[in-house]
Amino acid sequence: PFDVLVVGGGPAGAAAAIYTARKGIRTGILAERFGGQVADTMGIENLVSVPHTEGPKLVADLERHVREYDVDIMNLQRADKLIPAPEGGLHELVLENGASLKARTVILSTGARWRQMGVPGEDTYRNKGVAYCPHCDGPLFKGKRVAVIGGGNSGVEAAIDLAGLVAHVTLIEYDTALRADAVLQRKLHSLPNVTVVTSALTTEVHGDGDKVTALSYRDRTHGTMHRVELEGIFVQIGLVPNTEWLAGAIALSPRGEIEVDDRGHTSQPGIFAAGDATTVPFKQIVIAMGAGSTAALAAFDHLIRLPAE
Ligand code: FAD
Repeated sequence: PFDVLVVGGGPAGAAAAIYTARKGIRTGILAERFGGQVADTMGIENLVSVPHTEGPKLVADLERHVREYDVDIMNLQRADKLIPAPEGGLHELVLENGASLKARTVILSTGARWRQMGVPGEDTYRNKGVAYCPHCDGPLFKGKRVAVIGGGNSGVEAAIDLAGLVAHVTLIEYDTALRADAVLQRKLHSLPNVTVVTSALTTEVHGDGDKVTALSYRDRTHGTMHRVELEGIFVQIGLVPNTEWLAGAIALSPRGEIEVDDRGHTSQPGIFAAGDATTVPFKQIVIAMGAGSTAALAAFDHLIRLPAE
C-alpha cells in the first residue's frame, strides 16, 4: 500500500506529492489528466515569482518537479469510489477501470470545473476573449469592453472588479433580478461604467475567427434579440467541484465542496483534501499549491502517530 495516495494531478496534487515524497514515504499520484485546469490555461501572470508562464509549460514544469522524486504517477486514471478505513486501517480507492488501490492516508485534490454557457462560439473563443477567471484574465482587457454572465455573488464581484480596469462592463443575468448580496448590488449600481441587463439569455458568442467581437442575448420578457459589441466575456455561472464520486464517503458542503479545516483534514481521519475541490475560499494556483503542501504535512503528521505496520 501507499503511505500517501494523492488523487488529482493539478497544482494542489503536484505540491502534495512533492512534499510527501520529500519525507521519504511511499507516494502515489493518480490523475485523470495530469495538470488539471492549468492545462486549459494560456497566459499565467500571478504565479508569484514567475511573472509570465503558459499553462502547458507550467504543466510540464509541475510534472518535471514531481518526477525528481520517487513518486508513482498514474496518469489517465479516474477514481470512482473512496472507501474510508476504520481508524488506522487502509483506505481503498476504486478506479473506473475496476482496479483498486490501498493507502494509509489519502489526499483528495480533484479540483473543479467552470460551468459553461453551452452556446455556439463559447468553445471556439475560449482564451480568445471568453474567460472564466477575473483575477487571472481581467488585466488582459484593460480599457476594453466586456460582459459578465451571471448575477450571483461571483458575477457581481467580477463586474465590480472589472469595472476598475476595463472601459465598460455589461452584466447579464438570466433571472428577473440579480441574486448577489444587497451590499454588492448597491456597489455595482454606483459604478458609472456598468450596465445591468436582467431576464436575458445569452445565445451566441461572435468572433472574427481570432477573437471575440460581440455576444447575442435574447430578452426573455419581450422575446427580442440583442447584440453587444465587446472584446471579452467572463462566464460566472458557477464553479463545480469534481467531487460527485465522494458523496457519502466524506462530508461535502451544500455546494459539493469537500469540507476541510485549516490543515486540510476532512471529516474522515487519514483523509485530507486541498485545492479547488474544497471549501477553501479562493480558487487560484498559488492557493492550491499552498493547500496541497499543507495537506501533505498534515498527512505526514497523521502517519507518524500511527502504530508501526
Ligand atoms: P485542478 O487544476 O482542477 O486539478 C484537478 C486534478 O484532478 C486534475 O488532474 C484532474 O484530472 C484530476 N481529477 C478530477 N477528478 C478526478 C477523478 N475522479 N479521479 C482522478 N483524477 C481526477 N489560477 C491562477 O492562479 N492564475 C491563472 O492565471 C489562472 N487562469 C485560469 C484559466 C482557466 C481557463 C482556468 C479554467 C483556471 C484558471 N486558474 C488560474 C485557476 C487554477 O487553474 C485553479 O485554481 C487550479 O488549477 C486548482 O488546482 P487544483 O489542483 O485544486 O485542481
